[in-house]
Amino acid sequence: MSTTAAATPTKGSLTGLESIEMGAARIRVDDKRIINCRADLNQLVPFKYTWAWDKYLASCANHWMPNEINMWDDQVLWKSKDGLTEDERNIIKRNLGFFSTADSLVANNIVLAVYRHITNPECRQYLLRQASEEALHTHSYQYIVESLDMDQAEVFNMYRELPSVAEKSEWALQFTRSLTSPSFQTGTPKDDQRLLRDLIAFYVIFEGIFFYVGFVQILSMGRRNKMTGTAQQLQYILRDESMHLNFGIDVINQIKAENPQLWTPEFQKEIIEMIHKGVELEHRYAIDTMPRGILGLNSQMFLEYLQFIANRRCTQIGLPEQYTGIKNPFPWMSEMLDLKKEKNFFETRVLEYQTGGALNWDDDEKE
Ligand code: FE
Repeated sequence: MSTTAAATPTKGSLTGLESIEMGAARIRVDDKRIINCRADLNQLVPFKYTWAWDKYLASCANHWMPNEINMWDDQVLWKSKDGLTEDERNIIKRNLGFFSTADSLVANNIVLAVYRHITNPECRQYLLRQASEEALHTHSYQYIVESLDMDQAEVFNMYRELPSVAEKSEWALQFTRSLTSPSFQTGTPKDDQRLLRDLIAFYVIFEGIFFYVGFVQILSMGRRNKMTGTAQQLQYILRDESMHLNFGIDVINQIKAENPQLWTPEFQKEIIEMIHKGVELEHRYAIDTMPRGILGLNSQMFLEYLQFIANRRCTQIGLPEQYTGIKNPFPWMSEMLDLKKEKNFFETRVLEYQTGGALNWDDDEKE
């Protein structure tokens, strides 16, 4: 492959598994492109998109394992007769019902659809990391379900049996179906828009809106000292997810910058409608998971929160805010998402992780 070919994207991107062309011209940084790249995809460096590499490093520093978290208090509380109300149990069960299959759906979308069409090694490196984190999240839900001795089939089938959970998953699936087709390729404005639409559906709406009612509900329980192990698992997942979202937004904005012809007024209108639909579905989910106000929360507060988040998501991808006069009813959530605190959190984890590693190493030395 030559650099001339690299500079002129055509239909049919490379995959990284083409035969090696001996003596071909070296890849230049400028040859790299997020989509439709015709340059060798096996060359991570020199970096062009340092933001992708930085997020990969930050995610590695945030490494955690679900079974590191003690679930004993949760087991005792879950088994007790009067420790939790029926509404509180419902919140735990329904959120696990959504999350348990949703993160698997995201992983499948990354591995089977998105990865193939993102033609940049730095971004693919992050996608590999993200896929492994999605696996940890599914592991986490399995671990919670097992720890609490819940009905596994009931939880993992909820996305097919409970309408408000099913609706969200079904809504997302329409955006991945065409991309998983072996004959689908980017390279025309229509197909490039299809990929961009899928990225916005998954990163901005599915991961960026559809997880947040559950995060608020379970973290609220944790703040009231109930189901603290489950809440801690969700807190780790939230940190990962906020990084996934930020990566997705960077990818979306980079594709927009490199392919401004895709960002037509009609396309923007379609995206805005998708975001409105996302808020509607997630609000319905909030009502379904919490028909009565508990834990100092009610469904009107969730509607405001979702509109607040949707405004933020719109701004992040260069669209106008859609809801006026909205304030965040859960300021403690934005505190958790504060980048500085997130960094502190990463630093804490790195320290703990390195300490753990050093102890193991010392033990090995003594043997
Ligand atoms: Fe994710």
